[in-house]
Amino acid sequence: MKKVLFILLSIFALTAFAKKKFRKRCSLTSSIKPKCYHKRDAPILNISLIYYGNESDMNIEHLEKIEGLLKERFSKATQQELTLNIQHKAIVPFKHKIPEGYTYNNIEDKKRLQRIWYYDNVGWKINLEMYEEYKRLYPEQTKTIDVLLTITGAQFDALGLANGRVSTTEYPQEIAWNLPNGGRVNYPTDYELVDELIHELGHNMFIGHATSQCQKISYNAQVATYSSNEERMEGIRLARERTKACCEASPSKNDVMSYCRNRSNVDENFMHGFESCNLGMIKKLVIPAMLKGRRWNVAGRVSCR
Ligand SMILES: [Zn+2]
Repeated sequence: MKKVLFILLSIFALTAFAKKKFRKRCSLTSSIKPKCYHKRDAPILNISLIYYGNESDMNIEHLEKIEGLLKERFSKATQQELTLNIQHKAIVPFKHKIPEGYTYNNIEDKKRLQRIWYYDNVGWKINLEMYEEYKRLYPEQTKTIDVLLTITGAQFDALGLANGRVSTTEYPQEIAWNLPNGGRVNYPTDYELVDELIHELGHNMFIGHATSQCQKISYNAQVATYSSNEERMEGIRLARERTKACCEASPSKNDVMSYCRNRSNVDENFMHGFESCNLGMIKKLVIPAMLKGRRWNVAGRVSCR
């Protein structure tokens, strides 16, 4: 009898522990923007890495190569303060198949058409679609991961997108498909993909863009009113020069969260990481929030210049 009671108590204690560890409101099952982190014993970010798209565009072997590089570069980016645990990987096919007879600008390649169809019909809502699909297919994984990190063939015409704890980058990229010749397809290298994925993981940890004061100069010039086209061209040219000078003077210019960073430098030997300002926030705010199971929207963040 005592033994039965002991077993029952143990089960109760374990369930209570599991509940405490995986609170629903901290989980992606409840929302794309869970309010808090699951409590953990070590500074580890738990993610699922998925490819969402045509199965012939990415196979599991390729995804495994990206996984290895991402794990290695993410810990370097955080100077080993935070490591990645990729708890699940999968290739998830598109939810929508293109309608029969769908054409675009004389493009005949069905795979291209499928990727382009997504631009016109889903666009920036792609993260939401992937989140819903993932949750439906892998409900158990969804309970425990911090981030659903994806690579997709769906086009949304940006380098990457983050919504709450879900983010994505394009692979492959369709370029200028509305030009008379139908444009072309670009295949980013694994190094480029990983650079963008680390940037998006930064957003998934509630970190904003670094050096936004520099990008603001260009933005303001774009939206300003000019009396002539010449004046506009000159205004934009000057702003570009000022942005460049601003970037050069910024301590966070090489931060993976900065638009000042030179993406074309990223290769086998070179990568961008979090520079001291963002690294300080990861150490002082983000990691403690993870360890204590506190708010995802950490207080006290600064904008790194
Ligand atoms: Zn960004």
